[in-house]
Amino acid sequence: MPMHEAIDGIVVRVRDMGNCDRYLSLLTAERGRIPLLAKGSHSMHSTQAAVSQMYTYGNYEYYRKGSMNILKGGSVIQPFYSLSADIDRLNLAAYLCDLTVELTDEGEEAGDMLRLLLNSLHAVSRELRPQELVKGAFELRAAVLSGYAPDLSGCAGCGRAESELFCLDVMNGALICRECRAQRNAAVGRPSSDEELREAEIVGLMTPAVLAAFRYCAVAPLERLLSFDLHDRADREQFSRLCELYLLSHIGHGFDSLQFYHNMRAPQASADKGNQHELFQQNTDHTGV
Ligand SMILES: [Zn+2]
Repeated sequence: MPMHEAIDGIVVRVRDMGNCDRYLSLLTAERGRIPLLAKGSHSMHSTQAAVSQMYTYGNYEYYRKGSMNILKGGSVIQPFYSLSADIDRLNLAAYLCDLTVELTDEGEEAGDMLRLLLNSLHAVSRELRPQELVKGAFELRAAVLSGYAPDLSGCAGCGRAESELFCLDVMNGALICRECRAQRNAAVGRPSSDEELREAEIVGLMTPAVLAAFRYCAVAPLERLLSFDLHDRADREQFSRLCELYLLSHIGHGFDSLQFYHNMRAPQASADKGNQHELFQQNTDHTGV
């Protein structure tokens, strides 16, 4: 007799095999990601079809057969239907799920990542918060949960906690004030041909409002993570870009789904492309912007 199990989780990846089989990756709190095989889930009459959809949070019943987990059935808890009402929502959700797959493992507890993903998808699907805030908060908090917490207490050079304009030293996860950065650059004598230095010098400029948002998102209780605001649109966009830069620099690669999200939002984003270079520079010094 195969052993039957049941667990709550959300479908974060779907891969169709042949005509009717579907491999699901389920994110659960207790056991991280679980691979599930849904046999015949495409057919109209499949009782599994409802729970075999991307972004569906539900209770999944399965049994083990050899090394496979075979989906037997289940019930939907939250389908996040409203995601599909808008292409930007759907693209952002796809990227958040890709990040989740990247940052979780099979068999390893993932309660906080699950909570983070569910709260974020809820906010995106209902348009409760601007997408830039949800995306940035998710990225930064996912970095913290994965062990890449930046030190946001103050300048790594002089220790001051507030400054008109901080730089985030992305690879070192540290803040540097304008004065300390100018001193450091002068001492180093840039531009340098040293490749190591180039690597270490990915920086993003941070207004006090953006820094406050970073500080909030790094430690806020997960259920209140999205209860912050950036009233200035430029701050929202800078927050989103900087969180993205921070997380992806630590992961070490980008995501097609993120590129797709940005490309589809192009009409709105193109107006801002110009200042992207002012906000982020690699090994250049525009700190006086
Ligand atoms: Zn300083």
